[in-house]
Amino acid sequence: MIDKFGREINYLRISVTDRCNLRCKYCMPEEGCGNLIPHSEILSFEEIIRVAEAAASIGIHKLRLTGGEPLVRHSIVDLVAGLNAIDGIDEIDITTNGIMLEEMAHDLKAAGLCRVNISLDTFDPEKFREITRGGDLQKVIRGIEAAEREGLTPVKINCVALGGFNDDEFEQFIELTKDRDITVRFIELMPIGSADVGEGYGYISDQDILKRFPELQPCEQELFSVSLDYHLPEAKGKVGFISALSHHFCGTCNKLRLTSDGKIKPCLHNNEEIDIKRAAREGTHEDIVRVLVESIDHKVARHRLNEGADPITRDMNKIGG
Ligand code: SAM
Repeated sequence: MIDKFGREINYLRISVTDRCNLRCKYCMPEEGCGNLIPHSEILSFEEIIRVAEAAASIGIHKLRLTGGEPLVRHSIVDLVAGLNAIDGIDEIDITTNGIMLEEMAHDLKAAGLCRVNISLDTFDPEKFREITRGGDLQKVIRGIEAAEREGLTPVKINCVALGGFNDDEFEQFIELTKDRDITVRFIELMPIGSADVGEGYGYISDQDILKRFPELQPCEQELFSVSLDYHLPEAKGKVGFISALSHHFCGTCNKLRLTSDGKIKPCLHNNEEIDIKRAAREGTHEDIVRVLVESIDHKVARHRLNEGADPITRDMNKIGG
């Protein structure tokens, strides 16, 4: 479907849970996931599949599962298989912290998963424990290796650029792309939800990083990509920049987001949400399509995050970044 600004909407990001097995400082408040959404409010697999079927019928062909941490949702492999069976869906990816990936990568691939994005902000076990409030770095490293072995490639590593925390490790991240089919993507810290994003960490823009690594050369941009991609000379992988603040990717935004409690967010960076749970629970296929079409109609031309717009109130773990 084409929205009123001429953008083709072909991608649905599905948050399957607000629960997470890490507590990243910039993502959620110290006390954890905050008020957890009760299980009865969370969409069941059947309801998610009904929404995805309706989405596929209006031209959405790519899905991404996220969270919270999608791999903590019980029987997530069955959901991947169910989504993979929908006519018109030709790509299913997952964004994960990688903690449970080593044990699940094989079954996820067999169920139809195409690729994984893995979040990793540091290679130092102590710093990893600090930023995630207790996580085990080695599990993530083994998760990345398992994803490569299973062909869930190219693996994309999402690194939130945090001044005073991981800016001394950027070179190590970039080096990873030399010999491996890995895309490292630096994400600008975004002011979202109740996490204290500013506390102790400096904002770093993509330009700050590019200035430090003049050897990075621009790649041909992928259609609809939210990252500006570069590569080292002769490198196998890529280095991308996701810069929601310093650049707008809104002109090529092709997404809708479905939260785990059944709301459609037409735009990550504003607070509007449209209920689709009632239609998914009690309505017909046409009712669900109607909500999706209305949501596409509500997509804004661009976000105003850095122009004094109201802050985003929903925590990132309840949106699924
Ligand atoms: N648990 C999964 C994971 O860790 O990838 C999926 C959910 S997590 C909310 C998705 C992505 O959002 C992660 O890459 C995380 O680093 C990013 N993220 C969370 N809070 C952010 C913030 N305030 N600014 C920028 N990125 C953020």
